[in-house]
Amino acid sequence: MASHVVVIGSGLGGLSAAAVARARGHRVTLLERNPWLGGKAAVLDLPTPMGNFRFDMGPTILTVPRVLRRIFAEAGRALDQHVPILKLEPQWRCFFEDGTRADLMGELDAMLAEIERVAPGRKLGEGYQRFQKVARHLHDVSEKFFFWRPVEGIADTMNVADNFKPEVLKDVMALRMGQSAAGVIRKHVPDANLAQMLDHYMQYVGSNPYAAPAVLCAIGDMQSAEGVWYPKGGTRAVAEGLAKLAGELGAELRTNAEVTGLDIRDGVVRGVLLADGERIACDAVISNMDSIRTYTELVGGRVGDAYAHKGFEAACSGVVLYLALNKRYEHLAHHDFVFSRDPEEEFDAIYKRGEPAPDPTAYLAATSFSDPTAAPEGAEALYVLVHTPWLRPHHDWKRMLPAYRQVILDKLKRTAGLTDIEDRIIAEAHLTPQDIHERYKVLNGAIYGLASHGTFTGAFKPGNRSRDIRGLYLCGGAAHPGPGMPMVMMSGWIAADALDQDLGGRGMDEAARIAGSRETALG
Ligand SMILES: Cc1cc2nc3c(=O)[nH]c(=O)nc-3n(C[C@H](O)[C@H](O)[C@H](O)COP(=O)(O)OP(=O)(O)OC[C@H]3O[C@@H](n4cnc5c(N)ncnc54)[C@H](O)[C@@H]3O)c2cc1C
Repeated sequence: MASHVVVIGSGLGGLSAAAVARARGHRVTLLERNPWLGGKAAVLDLPTPMGNFRFDMGPTILTVPRVLRRIFAEAGRALDQHVPILKLEPQWRCFFEDGTRADLMGELDAMLAEIERVAPGRKLGEGYQRFQKVARHLHDVSEKFFFWRPVEGIADTMNVADNFKPEVLKDVMALRMGQSAAGVIRKHVPDANLAQMLDHYMQYVGSNPYAAPAVLCAIGDMQSAEGVWYPKGGTRAVAEGLAKLAGELGAELRTNAEVTGLDIRDGVVRGVLLADGERIACDAVISNMDSIRTYTELVGGRVGDAYAHKGFEAACSGVVLYLALNKRYEHLAHHDFVFSRDPEEEFDAIYKRGEPAPDPTAYLAATSFSDPTAAPEGAEALYVLVHTPWLRPHHDWKRMLPAYRQVILDKLKRTAGLTDIEDRIIAEAHLTPQDIHERYKVLNGAIYGLASHGTFTGAFKPGNRSRDIRGLYLCGGAAHPGPGMPMVMMSGWIAADALDQDLGGRGMDEAARIAGSRETALG
């Protein structure tokens, strides 16, 4: 039965949900408070006398593209014709404080050769392969129990009748509950630099590897087995492709439309209320607004209070410098990490003390490596991201930014060899935790939704089908299965699929099932 669905927010999660719900035949109205569609996947142009410099403002690393493939396949379309993507190798180039440089390679033999080059004779390649085996198993278990379904807690992951089957218990044991991701990494790869490199998979979800559950090591397999990808024209192409898909399918996409409340009667959603006083009646709502803020600000009452007190913590925030440079640094790869001198000091500052790290890790996107359209010839649109704590009341980033910008530039000079970077900047712009908080209406400036902290249940987030309000569904980085491009797009798919099932819709067809499956991706 076709129903009217309102999607609140046009992040990658909201756009995915809108496209899938519409592809399944539901009438869709998407409401976005900003003047652009795509949420954090926004674009910035810096015009200069040399020419234009184009920056992706938010996400730059695309992994697990089969999620996007499934969303396009829901509408009978092939991803590659609508959003062409390019595989990147090396996946990351890493710069360490002791002068070591190492490339993270997707291809196993190349990675083993790289490990042997940076740490000869220590048989660390064997440990890396053991880590990857664990990561693969954790990914298998995640695919079986966590992914593609609306999970809120451990009970949702399993069929009760199956709980005591030996193979299920084996899978639960494999999750290594009680162990941290950093612990698993160091057990198999006892080398300070290589462990620091692998720790940074956990930065994809804005969490402390020392507090994140071991299951997040699955990201290591997602990336090595399925690759790191660059959408032609920048990551923004993903948001544009999804918006075009949803629009062509017939979804109504409205910008400058802020939802300020839900019309809930007898525990059932009946409509949404907009800031300008408009009320839109609907049969279901998919909220891509931060899940905790959805419950506390749009639902409110007893349910809102309960979510406010469940103990969820915002993931980290960040500072981004968008630097138009009149030079390309040939020694940078597309994605680069310039690592802190001491990961424990860094993570302690960001995640425990709640202060910017004194010597941070900087992530760089030097997009000209693979895309000549990002900057004028011989120049670079250099994107520099440093993770910071979520926004505390005493953090005044207008005051803090100039000094922290200098800390970051000094770090790039010292550890990545960008010695003349300050002389090369011809234009620049910045994004601070305060900007992130205001632009994207998130929880305390969080980049990646909710932190995955807690070695037993840290992976669980508010579920995609509300347990409290009938007709309310959630997607985005603060909902299951979590943040990062593939996961938020999966969360949009899950929310639309759950809604479609609840409303008696047609369900997923075989072509979409195949397009999103791991077996297909691995060939
Ligand atoms: C600097 C930065 C770097 C990142 N790097 C990466 C990366 O390399 N790889 C990766 O995978 N991920 C990365 N991420 C994370 C990734 O961008 C996010 O996980 C993802 O884009 C978030 O999508 P979302 O669906 O949660 O929605 P969001 O992008 O958070 O968008 C939510 C939208 O909802 C709108 N909204 C909120 N409330 C309302 C309301 N009441 N009414 C109407 N509209 C509303 C907001 O305006 C916003 O447009 C990065 C993020 C940032 C900021």
